[in-house]
Amino acid sequence: MYDHILVPIAFDEQTDEKTTRALEIARALSAPQAKITLLHVMEAVPGYVINYLPTEFSQEAHKAIESELTKLAETVPNGQALLISGHSGRSILDWADAHKPDLIVIASHRPGMQDLLLGSTATQVVRHAQCAVHVLR
Ligand code: ADP
Repeated sequence: MYDHILVPIAFDEQTDEKTTRALEIARALSAPQAKITLLHVMEAVPGYVINYLPTEFSQEAHKAIESELTKLAETVPNGQALLISGHSGRSILDWADAHKPDLIVIASHRPGMQDLLLGSTATQVVRHAQCAVHVLR
């Protein structure tokens, strides 16, 4: 049983099933009163793409993701939603180094990438995290 579980959440079209399963696992592995942090890392949009997007795009995307994340966090006891900017793997690891969760629950890869044993973010987290990592297949 774990006291502080970090669940990194990627918002893709088909992540719902994996996200639901990751949260179920987090719930099952949590000690009474455990904290569950749902973290999404907003990756920077390349400069050449930004030129083609409406100016309010980033703000609107930020608001929409924050609201989705908050809704998801309400589905788990002691759930906390957190949205940060950066590179997914690096930022998850930095956050974990600073806040010391005792477990990270992460999917092995995004849907549609079944040929890969581990996706790029999952690889980085499994390799470098200082705490236990539960990988969801
Ligand atoms: P792929 O390389 O196949 O896209 P990833 O390793 O990036 O796969 O994704 C596996 C898992 O990593 C996701 O289900 C999610 O838990 C986590 N993840 C990926 N991107 C992000 C992100 N931007 N913010 C938070 N978690 C992420």
